[in-house]
Formats: sequence, structure tokens, C-alpha cells
Amino acid sequence: MEFIARYLAPDHILSALKSFAQDANFSLSVLGKSVKGRSIYRLNFGSGPKKILLWSQMHGNETTTTKALLHYLQTLVNSELGNELAKHLELCVIPMLNPDGAAAYTRLNANEVDLNRDAQDLSQPESLVFREVFNSFKPDLCLNLHGQRSIYGLTGSENPAVLSFLAPAADDQRSITPARLEAMRLINCMTAVLHEDLGQQIGRYDDTFNGNCLGDYCTQQGVPTILFEAGHYQQDYTRNNTAALIQKAYTVLFDELCSPQPVIDSDATVAAYLELPENEINYCDLILKDVLPSDVHDAKDLYIQYKESLFEGVIRFKAELIGADTPNPEFAHRYENDPELNSELKRLNQEDWSSFIADYVLKKYSH
Ligand SMILES: [Zn+2]
Repeated sequence: MEFIARYLAPDHILSALKSFAQDANFSLSVLGKSVKGRSIYRLNFGSGPKKILLWSQMHGNETTTTKALLHYLQTLVNSELGNELAKHLELCVIPMLNPDGAAAYTRLNANEVDLNRDAQDLSQPESLVFREVFNSFKPDLCLNLHGQRSIYGLTGSENPAVLSFLAPAADDQRSITPARLEAMRLINCMTAVLHEDLGQQIGRYDDTFNGNCLGDYCTQQGVPTILFEAGHYQQDYTRNNTAALIQKAYTVLFDELCSPQPVIDSDATVAAYLELPENEINYCDLILKDVLPSDVHDAKDLYIQYKESLFEGVIRFKAELIGADTPNPEFAHRYENDPELNSELKRLNQEDWSSFIADYVLKKYSH
């Protein structure tokens, strides 16, 4: 099966899970229900001693890590690799922790709550489902799988944050606890390989502690936890290139977890992790250069961000100007000159420019 669209219909995901569950190394069950009564599925794989809890789409519109997960799991079906891995690892996979958000393509759940700010409050049924499986499964490692918007670049360079990782903090002091150190070590294993494909386009997230974030909560409980953030790769708005990179990250990680646990050099591990540049909000999707006729007005760039929406099962990208009250991003994933826009503007009165530009940009650059 292939998962190539930006939107993953829950039924499509479910049919994949059911087909995987035909293999004896897999089993499929229902953990509980969402606000709107949708099932929250658990796919189990393997019976090895090392237990890994993975969840994706707790933010329903973050599909890239789910796509990568389905493609990866597919390689374990009826394969030597699968049989080998099943001896070492047990995976408890929750492909859609927020199935209502996944269906509607929204970050929040059906009560408009961010499930990644509900780890301690437990105000939502999805949060309770997670807590129950966390307590009963007793994972040795957690993978908290997310996608990030195209607004992220990296400090100190023009690079976009194609992928970002975080070894979440367990306390306000952001102490290097044993769990955190192990998460850093595993992130370093993945980035060492991914840097060969991506150069320096990999970042790390801000590690300010927030116990209501799920990753911080798990780390606080002493379980190494890795946050994955699948970002934007050049003009790949379906994010299939990013999904392929995430799939590679899973392969590297699970291979590593089948190897004997090494002795960790903590200083070198922390230093290598901190070498990853921090994420920074400094990107937009498109900059139109030198808009407005320069003989009547200073040359001015227009900053455009795509707003995603689900329409008849397909994600649309609506081109919107970044508001005057928002600081302009430093960089864009694409730069264009638009002489046609400039000649149109020359024909208009200046007071009509802003409404004309908003409409023009929406029509010409949305996709
Ligand atoms: Zn997220």
C-alpha cells in the first residue's frame, strides 16, 4: 500500500493496519474512544524484551510521521527483517492518538484541546487512553511523532528545519537525567546518518520544560523519549521526501535498539546533541521580490504563507499575505519576481493596491 497524499483518510490507515495484522508478528486492538466516539487503535509488533511506545497524529493534521511509520511497518510484514526485529523489540504503535483531528485535519481534538498540553490535566478521553497504555505497557522508550510547519528554520544559518528532534527535559533545570541522556544518544545515532542526506538541515527543539507536554511527562517518569518533527523539504508540499527521511530515521533507530546497549560517554553525547542548531521561526513559503512600481514607491517584498485546509479529501494550500503586525520572516522556501503584478498595480490607484494584491496572490499562488 502507498501513502503519498498529504491527507491520510482514517479508513485508509485502518485498512493498512488490518492488513499488517494478518502477519503473526502483529496484532491490532482498540484502546478506547475519542471525543466523537472514533476508535483509537493500537498495533502491536514483536515480543522482544525492549518495549517501545510510539504515537503519531496526537496533532491530527501532522501526517508525515504516520506515513513514514506505515511505510516502515510494511517492511516488517512477512519479512526476515520483521522476524529478526520481533525477537528484540516489542512495539506498541498508536498511529492516530487524535482520530477526530486526523479525520478533520485539525491540530486540536474535537473539544479544541491541544492534547500535547493535557498530559497532567488529563481532561480529554484521548489523554486518558494514552495514560492507561503508558502505565500498563511500561515502555523503555517513547517516540512522540509530530510534523512542523514550513515556518521553521535553524539558528545561525539560512537552512530550513527539514527535520527536528528533541530530548525533552524532565524538570525546570533541564537536567541531563539518564532517560534524557539515552534519548540524546539515540537522536545522535539518527542524525549522524541523516546528515549525509540532508546536510545541516536538522535542528533541535527548544527544551523548556512543560509537564503538560506528553514528551516532558514521559521523560519525567524516567522513560527516554524522543520528539520527532517532520518539516518542509524544498517544494515537497506532500512531504513524501520528508516521510522517506523519517522512515530512514526509524530504520536506523530500530537497528540500534537491537544492538547491545553501549556504555555512554555523557559529555560527548550531550555535546553532539547540542551541536544541532536550534529551531527558529524565520521562514515563510514564498517571498515576491520588488513588488510595487519602484518609480512611485520604494521596492517592497511581499511575504506569503500557505494556510492548509481540507477540501473533499485533499489538502489545499491557500496563499495568504503575512500580516503587517507580524515580523517579516528572514527567508523563504521560494523567491519569485512578478512583473505581471507590478504592471497591474501601475494601472491602479495606490489606495486599491492592498485589496488587489491579497486577491491576486490568493488566486495566482494557491495550490
Ligand atoms: Zn505536533
